[in-house]
Amino acid sequence: MSFVYLKRKIRSVDRRVREARLIAEGLKSPRHPIVAHIVPIRRCNLSCAYCNEYDKVSDPVPTPVMIRRIDLLARLGTAAITISGGEPLMHPELDDIIRHIRSRGILATLITNGYLLTPARIKRLNRAGLNYLQISIDNVKPDDVSKKSLKVLDQKLRSLARDAEFAVNINSVVGSSIRNPDDALAVTRRALDLGFMSTVGIIHNSAGQLLPLNEKQQETHAEIVRLGQKKSSFTFAYYNQFQNNLARGLPNDWHCRAGSRFLYICEDGLVHWCSQQRGYPGVPLEQYTQEHLDREYRTVKSCAPYCTISCVHQVSMIDRLRDTPRETLSWFFASGEENAPANLPWWVRALSWVFLPEESNNNRRILGRAALRLLGVK
Ligand code: SF4
Ligand code: SF4
Repeated sequence: MSFVYLKRKIRSVDRRVREARLIAEGLKSPRHPIVAHIVPIRRCNLSCAYCNEYDKVSDPVPTPVMIRRIDLLARLGTAAITISGGEPLMHPELDDIIRHIRSRGILATLITNGYLLTPARIKRLNRAGLNYLQISIDNVKPDDVSKKSLKVLDQKLRSLARDAEFAVNINSVVGSSIRNPDDALAVTRRALDLGFMSTVGIIHNSAGQLLPLNEKQQETHAEIVRLGQKKSSFTFAYYNQFQNNLARGLPNDWHCRAGSRFLYICEDGLVHWCSQQRGYPGVPLEQYTQEHLDREYRTVKSCAPYCTISCVHQVSMIDRLRDTPRETLSWFFASGEENAPANLPWWVRALSWVFLPEESNNNRRILGRAALRLLGVK
């Protein structure tokens, strides 16, 4: 057993406990952000044809400014911060930013195109305490739409499989601007072979809205979901329900909590609902208060039914679970057949037994409270 393998296992236990605490705290109170995206640099070293989130000229945001933003997010009670861009690895002091996130007890995720990863850079990310890294891979061979290709990035993926102590998720995409839908399948298979997590996204237009999939793309999407189900989890089950509807061009019935449970902080330090709805509410983070969080929690977003922003779907899962736990669990794990009972995995049944007792069952209520204390949830 290698030293890296052992460290990875130890860190994965720590990560799981923190994730469980994040969910438990989110279930306990709706009044703090669960995930915030921050942008340390808008510049990118690539120019994907579908992307509206980069430029070629911006300077990095000064590190003290980023540190101040992280402190403000910590004050609002943010549980997890995702660093996006542009390409965040172009920020010269990214490690200090990650280190500061971790020092505030917040989970740190990095979204990167992977081009600047080297074995030495991966080890620096380990030392900074990164929890998760996500790479989105669009095709097998680079083309004029995207250079985020398996062919170019495979060497980087092998380095990650060997050296990374953090969890790695490979996201593949299907959609109109991706020429060969089978590419997403090849990306997923490679990710699973290397022991990574794998998700699939549906490519959106410049407003984050759905571009319907054709029959072949729907088949590919269904096959990827089937492969990913082997790693079934709460998040994956929920995510599937959203994605399955979108793949068929159908709307989702959900309440987007962007601006409250999910924040997008641009390079200028303004809070937006998400990367695709910049300008709303467009308030400086310095002035963002509990009243803003509470107001945006209630605001109905007209873009929600056909929204493809999966990280916001996932965050909303927690509020839906809190409001209607039993109905939501049945929806997550629906068997697919009319009137058939939900297909709950054993561990979901065990958690429901501890945390969702009938009103009259005092012993189980005490057990649930003890479990929360064990997780450090006050
Ligand atoms: S790598 Fe990411 S940020 Fe850069 S252009 Fe492509 S999609 Fe946009
Ligand atoms: S529904 Fe929410 S996450 Fe989706 S585009 Fe609208 S504001 Fe953004």
